Amino acid sequence: MSTHLNPGFADFYQRSIDDRDGFWAEQAELIEWQQKPQQICDYSQPPFAKWFVGGTINLCHNAVDRHLAARADQNALIAISTETNTEKAYSYRELHAEVNRMAAALQALGVQKGDRVQIYMPMIAEACFAMLACVRLGAIHSVVFGGFASGALASRIDDAQPKVIVSADAGSRGGRVVPYKPLLDEALKQSTHQPAAVLMVNRGLAEMPMQAGRDHDWAALRARHLQARIDCVWVESTHPSYTLYTSGTTGKPKGVQRDTGGYTVALAASMPHIFDAQAGQTFFCTSDIGWVVGHSYIIYAPLIAGMATVMYEGLPIRPDAGIWWSIVEKYKVTHMFSAPTAIRVLKKHEAEYLTRYDISSLKALWLAGEPLDEPTAAWISAAIKKPIIDNYWQTETGWPIMTLCNGVEQQATRFGSPGKAVYGYNVKLIDDATGEELTGAQQKGVLAIEGPLPPGCMQTVWRDDNRFVNTYWKSIPGRLIYSTFDWGIRDEDGYYFILGRTDDVINVAGHRLGTREIEESISAHAQIAEVAVVGVADNLKGQAALAFAVVRDASLVADEAACKALEAEVMKLVDSRLGAVARPSRVLFVAALPKTRSGKLLRRALQAVAEGRDPGDLSTMEDPAVLAQVQQRL
Ligand code: AMP
Repeated sequence: MSTHLNPGFADFYQRSIDDRDGFWAEQAELIEWQQKPQQICDYSQPPFAKWFVGGTINLCHNAVDRHLAARADQNALIAISTETNTEKAYSYRELHAEVNRMAAALQALGVQKGDRVQIYMPMIAEACFAMLACVRLGAIHSVVFGGFASGALASRIDDAQPKVIVSADAGSRGGRVVPYKPLLDEALKQSTHQPAAVLMVNRGLAEMPMQAGRDHDWAALRARHLQARIDCVWVESTHPSYTLYTSGTTGKPKGVQRDTGGYTVALAASMPHIFDAQAGQTFFCTSDIGWVVGHSYIIYAPLIAGMATVMYEGLPIRPDAGIWWSIVEKYKVTHMFSAPTAIRVLKKHEAEYLTRYDISSLKALWLAGEPLDEPTAAWISAAIKKPIIDNYWQTETGWPIMTLCNGVEQQATRFGSPGKAVYGYNVKLIDDATGEELTGAQQKGVLAIEGPLPPGCMQTVWRDDNRFVNTYWKSIPGRLIYSTFDWGIRDEDGYYFILGRTDDVINVAGHRLGTREIEESISAHAQIAEVAVVGVADNLKGQAALAFAVVRDASLVADEAACKALEAEVMKLVDSRLGAVARPSRVLFVAALPKTRSGKLLRRALQAVAEGRDPGDLSTMEDPAVLAQVQQRL
């Protein structure tokens, strides 16, 4: 493989940029094609990149069927729930059988190539079967995080227009059962689009009222299709494999659309080069299938690589803070992937829990999703005595933009930095005012990526090419370049440091939330006239959402008991519309919000005072007294 031909990372990276097609043609050999691609990258219509044109492929074949010859009896999926105290390992043979059953069930419900299937499920094996069954059929899955509530689900149903929705009776978190079916039924009341069928997995955790004619029970369909064998539907490389919604600066979430061929190649290549991973090893990614990290590193990449993957439902500290590490010992986990927030949760417990088990199988711990602060990195590094590797990416890219590609060359970690630009990503720092590239060290700019984006990155926004172009490619003056909307700097050795978002997106416990979405749900309360949500630094979650609301009845601001009651109502409203993940940590009621003379809300000033910082230049502020009043409420 090219790894051995190019021992140095610098050369490896440079070749991926200078000889793009040659580089990716080699990576494409890592997977199986029904028909090999005729063209590696078609970038004749920038910024739309078409990868591996002419190739036909099936993602499920590459993740499951392909391994049957060599590793049918090896573990493929290990589903562990400390919520229901269940644990089951599926070999590749068993996974294949379950995926076929699910594919047969979906087919019986009318699902065909190109149809969307929405998956609203907890972290159970059936969610994995459903995702793989969709791509087996050439159907496009759209997983909605199980922590989202009806409103968020309804808007995603209307956008994706699924033929079938797959769900379950309930999820569970920290021992508390969260029934999903009422949330789903409520979402279907709110949505205009109605699916032809709903497929329900009954875990026996909650009531699951079924609507005759529409709702179907997985156990019954599974029994009917026990022996089913459904051929993989070979699709064009550019055929969408899935959409995944992500928050942006408007209230309407964007459906990030991913192709099939480019994604499969990108993930396959990431396993040796980024993770130094091999078939037969075990990958444990603690994310959720509702997030991009879960799609890529719980489900697809480990399976494409012929590894066993651990799917975990539960908290990192229940029954105690040793639980994850006991899983490492039991299944000889070689690769662990988590988020800084989870480590900060563990940090509140004795480090001794982490070393109570034999974790000698573990090569390293990768962390992503939010900035990895130095104290957290130093603590976990000292506790487990393994390399801690930060990696920076986005839902849009599907795999890391920056990290240390230790499979190519071992490189030293620098705390506070997610490392260097990954092969395939032509990363630039851009002066946001002039659009000029900043080539010197230690200069702050917007992190941008020169097109074409490498394989595996988003193709477009689902059914909205204009939004794709205008949102991501037109934000920097005078050039067509992809903006990450993150600030960054680069040091003398090419290590990057991420300095936060350039837009109104916040990151709570690794979950990306649009402040606009939260504001819109709060505005729905009859008492609220106006609201601003900002992200403020939080010791545990990185950031927390803080809401400042102007009430219709101004006298209420002085009434503490009434404020408390209203705050609780507002929080409940956010819970019911978006889900508890989006709930602000506090709602502060104020008489007015700080604005510019032109009427623009000054979120940055609000954020600064909330974090106890100097709000800076107030010359554009219409009435600085407003900010002083806000400060008093804090
Ligand atoms: P999401 O699409 O939800 O994965 O969020 C992507 C955003 O999370 C990025 O644009 C960054 O703002 C942030 N992010 C992800 N990974 C990292 C990291 N390793 N360090 C700093 N910020 C990160």
